[in-house]
Amino acid sequence: MRKKTSNGKCEQMAYRFYGIPSKQDAAQEDKTFGCCRYLWNRMLGDHNTLYSEIGEVPANTPADYKDLDECIWLNEVDSLALANVQLNLDSAFSRFFKKTARYPNFKSRKFAKKSYTTNAVYLKKKDGSICCNISLDPVSGLLKLPKHKDPVQLRLHRSIRPDGKLKSVTVTMESDGKRYYSILMEYPKQELTRDLDTDNAIGLDMSLPKLYVDSNGNTPDFPKPYRTMESKIKREQRKLSRKEKGSKNYEKQRIKLAKQHAKAKHLRNDVLHKLSCALTDRYDLIAIEDLDMSAIKRSLRFGKSASDNGWGMFTDMLSYKAKRKGKQLVKVDRWFPSSKTCSHCGHIHKELRLSDRIYLCPKCGHTMDRDQQAAQNIVKEAKRMLLNAAF
Ligand SMILES: [Zn+2]
Repeated sequence: MRKKTSNGKCEQMAYRFYGIPSKQDAAQEDKTFGCCRYLWNRMLGDHNTLYSEIGEVPANTPADYKDLDECIWLNEVDSLALANVQLNLDSAFSRFFKKTARYPNFKSRKFAKKSYTTNAVYLKKKDGSICCNISLDPVSGLLKLPKHKDPVQLRLHRSIRPDGKLKSVTVTMESDGKRYYSILMEYPKQELTRDLDTDNAIGLDMSLPKLYVDSNGNTPDFPKPYRTMESKIKREQRKLSRKEKGSKNYEKQRIKLAKQHAKAKHLRNDVLHKLSCALTDRYDLIAIEDLDMSAIKRSLRFGKSASDNGWGMFTDMLSYKAKRKGKQLVKVDRWFPSSKTCSHCGHIHKELRLSDRIYLCPKCGHTMDRDQQAAQNIVKEAKRMLLNAAF
């Protein structure tokens, strides 16, 4: 089977790097976080007031606020960061009207995510050369942002493909105080033509707590540090609950816990990235079930562990990595009876219960681990779907 991937002229790729800005620039970033938060709350508040009083939506822009005497300090930060606040608020409202999100909330000083986005703007000079308000050296990893005094040295844990155009940078400070710089690049679309070998395929059945079981019966290996982190977090959480809210010790413990949460999240994401990379390198066809994650999270049975092991994030990674490498990810209909079908004779075992970990076919006597069997059915169904789509 031959597969061509091409959609549009450009493709975007995001990179996220850790970096330590100078003290002065860190203060400038903090100021920008604060200004963005203030502007969000102010614009949302004005929207609410105007709408409730005269039923109209205000047409204010960040520039209008910068002219106000009480907001004069908004001029001290990157104006593109403020412009993005307005865009974000607009899209929050449109998500609300499309009923895909709740009404936009005010951002609290304490709990709101500290981040801002600034865009790359290219200007043509008189001598024909082009200059940009952000400079990024993809080799050394030096990033100079608007309103910053010095460039930030990024820790390049992966190399930046050099033939792209910088689009935007998002600065984020996580709850443990570490700063990250997300760099969005745009590249000319490469046309990939690849012969897909649909026999070089693997099926994955989501399984808890080990993320998945594949059609060969293997489960991914989560490194030990991740598992020890989990029990550590539980212990620190208990300690926090015994401290008095608002006290110095409580605050100390809260930061300690936040650091561990951040570390666990990074460890987990690292594992998910490595797994999805290895799978999309090794196989031409990857088949998964199209699960409704929000329904699974809601159901008490899986609750926490379903959101913790990051299946949704993992399938997103598989999807874009497969696309990038010219491979195929097939999602099998969620109502397909993957665990109830016998992979040997095709009999549907309706009486199979969730507690039956081993599948024993009542018709042909075939036995197999329940999840592995499901994974095999998923990959079989995916191949069938691909064949149908080809004709
Ligand atoms: Zn059977």
